[in-house]
Amino acid sequence: MFRSFGLERASLPEWSWICRKAGCVTRYERQRYRMVERQIRKRGVRNSRVLAAMEKVPRHRFVPEDSSEHAYEDSPLSIGKGQTISQPYMVAVMTESAVPEAHERVLEVGTGSGYQTAILAELAREVYSIERIPELAERAKGLLGRLGYENVFIRVGDGSEGWGEMAPFDAIVVTAGAPDIPEPLVEQLGLGGRLVIPIGSSHHQTLCTVRKETKSIRKEEGTGCVFVPLIGTFAWEEKAAEKHS
Ligand code: SAM
Repeated sequence: MFRSFGLERASLPEWSWICRKAGCVTRYERQRYRMVERQIRKRGVRNSRVLAAMEKVPRHRFVPEDSSEHAYEDSPLSIGKGQTISQPYMVAVMTESAVPEAHERVLEVGTGSGYQTAILAELAREVYSIERIPELAERAKGLLGRLGYENVFIRVGDGSEGWGEMAPFDAIVVTAGAPDIPEPLVEQLGLGGRLVIPIGSSHHQTLCTVRKETKSIRKEEGTGCVFVPLIGTFAWEEKAAEKHS
């Protein structure tokens, strides 16, 4: 009896046993656990609240049905309308850089599928999210509602202009690549606030974190990344972005 248990155990990958210990039940829970361990924790993301949120939010619900098998892979995926849901690792890094606390209010620019919105909603008091493509905004709004997120507010518009009526924000996360830091977003950050944004060309960017201090702003450069372009008044022109795509 003991021996056959040993054989069965030896034939399964190590993570599946660790995962059982952690209480994963469904196939997607196991995939999520593995995603967090292999793609995120192992690469240096350490914030336990961020890791817990990544382990909780059902990413497979945010991708088109025919991609749900790939939802926990280490890559971005198409969500239609020429847009993508970001790579899980990048979502984790951006969230960790924004460090949203439970009492804070966050602005997200680029709702897309709503996945990053859900991660932020797990961590912050309120999440305001702007998406320029109405169909994506509607879809994300519906899904987040069905998943029970009551602290999320989505609107259609140009997020490079921010959401002035709801400012100031404790953190702002921009999930599309900009040529430079949009001035309105810095203005709409509260004192001590963090703005996380990919800055660079339309082909390649650097993830930047801007901190608003009493008399100045402090900019730190992080990992290289590739995001779809942020299109708007304080970002790329639609035509310029098309030319580069
Ligand atoms: N956070 C998303 C997720 O988890 O699925 C990923 C979003 S995708 C990489 C970037 C999104 O930014 C796209 O849906 C795109 O339409 C949107 N976007 C681009 N420019 C924008 C702007 N000026 N205002 C609002 N959304 C914008």
